[in-house]
Amino acid sequence: MGKMGRTETRSTCCYCGTGCGVLIASEDGRITGVRGDPQHPANYGRLCSKGLNLAASAASDSGRALYPEMRPTRHAPRQRVGWDAALDSVAAGFASIIRQHGPDAVAFYVSGQLLTEDYYLFNKLAKGVVGTNNIDTNSRLCMSSAVTAYKKAFGADGPPTCYADLEQADCVLFAGSNLAYAHPVLLRRLEEARAARPDMRWIVIDPRRTDTAVMADLHLQIQPGTDVALFNGMLHHLIWEGLVAEDYIHAHTEGFAELKQMVRNTTPKMAAEICGIREEDLIQAAEWFGHSPASLSLYCMGLNQSSHGTDKNLALINLHLATGQIGKPGAGPFSLTGQPNAMGGREVGGMATMLAAHRDIDNAAHRAEVAAHWGVPAERLSATPGLPAIAMFDALQQGRIKAIWIACSNPAHSLPNLPQVRAALARAELVVVQDAFAHTDTTALADILLPAATWGEKEGTVTNSERRISRVRAAVPPPGEAQSDGWIVSQIARRLEVLLYPGAASLFADTEVASVFDEHCALTTGRDLDISGLSHAVLDSAGPQQWPLPAGAEQGQARRYVDGVFATANGRARFHAVRYQPPAENVSAHYPFRLLTGRLRDQWHGMSRTGRLPQLFAHCPEPALEMHPDDAARRDLQAGDLVRISSKRGQLVLPLAISRELPGGTVFAAMHWNGQFLNSGGINEASQPQVDDQSFQPELKHAAVKVEKISLP
Ligand code: SF4
Repeated sequence: MGKMGRTETRSTCCYCGTGCGVLIASEDGRITGVRGDPQHPANYGRLCSKGLNLAASAASDSGRALYPEMRPTRHAPRQRVGWDAALDSVAAGFASIIRQHGPDAVAFYVSGQLLTEDYYLFNKLAKGVVGTNNIDTNSRLCMSSAVTAYKKAFGADGPPTCYADLEQADCVLFAGSNLAYAHPVLLRRLEEARAARPDMRWIVIDPRRTDTAVMADLHLQIQPGTDVALFNGMLHHLIWEGLVAEDYIHAHTEGFAELKQMVRNTTPKMAAEICGIREEDLIQAAEWFGHSPASLSLYCMGLNQSSHGTDKNLALINLHLATGQIGKPGAGPFSLTGQPNAMGGREVGGMATMLAAHRDIDNAAHRAEVAAHWGVPAERLSATPGLPAIAMFDALQQGRIKAIWIACSNPAHSLPNLPQVRAALARAELVVVQDAFAHTDTTALADILLPAATWGEKEGTVTNSERRISRVRAAVPPPGEAQSDGWIVSQIARRLEVLLYPGAASLFADTEVASVFDEHCALTTGRDLDISGLSHAVLDSAGPQQWPLPAGAEQGQARRYVDGVFATANGRARFHAVRYQPPAENVSAHYPFRLLTGRLRDQWHGMSRTGRLPQLFAHCPEPALEMHPDDAARRDLQAGDLVRISSKRGQLVLPLAISRELPGGTVFAAMHWNGQFLNSGGINEASQPQVDDQSFQPELKHAAVKVEKISLP
């Protein structure tokens, strides 16, 4: 693994779902530089601040997990052990619990940071060997509402769009997406497109006046959570002004009559009142969207991380179907993935609610297909859906799940309601954490720590937001005794063969990364995401490719549904008559502020990588709670005051910052700051765990809180 001497390795950035291509310079086993790959179709050589600093973060071994560690007794500190001892203990612990309590007493919590091949192996181990669907992922927090809505509206998951649409759109509607921070290279592509085509319109829907909103032609600063009302009000205007595409609706969709009836009473005036914006602004947005030859929507966590996230996605998709703004250049509903391989996890079915290649757990034929492909008895694949992320940690706290194996994720920082997450991990009989970094909020609670190789050190693939599969390549060997995630999974499987599941080892006999990818591709044959024409060799010779790319095809498909035939049983897209509902937790006299959360431009997730680089703190050096100046004045608060932010679940202390970018009555905190920087796990001490009942995605972007000044003794 990795190369010696001076060399340059073509790979993909490990941060966001943009999926930028990079060229990694290395010399004698050390990464010495990273530049944008001018040939990669996601970025054509561009990189953002995080990408530009990849070499610096990779060059540092500080904080890396270098060797396996284990607690000698339940509450003793972990000690260094050999790989065999650590792997034997994981396998023995899982086997013992499965023997006593059944396969659903264990769980796997994985990550959109895993490569597709690693994801595939984890999913195969959980569903094909252990026989539980209790495998979920931190991508549940990121895009599961988009997945559910695509399936409901189009019959299959996956965006119908591609990045080339950024240059071809006439109207771009950003919904709950601060592209300037979350997907900076895509914003740069749009900026360049607008410079060349000044008639392009940007509409930004966001309660905050973000850096993206500042650049918009129209900023709709809606009240948090009112997106469905806004979209329904826009649709009302489009219908009654004759801006809908009657021919498209008639030929390619169903359910429009019911939707039309439902939005009849959602007038722009009424919708604007709910949203707290001017009626004329709502109408302007509808007019631009409806009149433009090509309208593109870019959306992200602002829609998805909601107790009504699926409905918000569906209401936006309704606008596209009603105007025929889909399946043509520059048009379509384009959900952006947060993590580098959230899309790859969807493809391999690495979630509690789905099977591989967009198959369904409750479909016996689908279970039989997957079982046959893996060579396990059909009854090994459970028909019982697994527990999605929030329910998984609830079950851990209640003792129904007794062992959890966490890979490449930091749930003790990133899940909502952290006091309960910590209690769950403390109660578990066995917590295994597999990570490249030794000192996270979650590794602190691990009984066994397995050191994993990370970006720049391992081989595989990732899929970005536009369904493009790119190679990730090893430029250097991993430090210490770290091993690739796939190697660790297959080692456990081999041990479970001895302890519990005869035949398990043969399922993991060939764990060469290219072979695992071939196995994954073959399982997609005949499915909507068919990539049976792909292999590492094809990617190496032809470069990154979009799915679908079936055997015999020369290249992947840039746009889906161009012929108006959807993946539903009758080929028609479905409208959904969804009504506005307020966020799950309303403000009250005790908790009068709406807490919003989001990203910083130069930090990533729990800062395991970016938090080690001083240059990435220049943009925002300190954590803070932002508050509108009028709210601060009413409470006699000033910038720099220490404030306690409390919800019904927990509390934390942050310095106050004054911001005119927020509407009154709301406060904002970045999600990144964690136990390494604070005397708490971060803002999720206070966030709330209510999930969307269709996608099971939690409402991380809205909680009711109070804010009080604290005095230092
Ligand atoms: Fe990496 Fe995303 Fe920045 Fe591209 S936009 S360089 S993928 S963090």
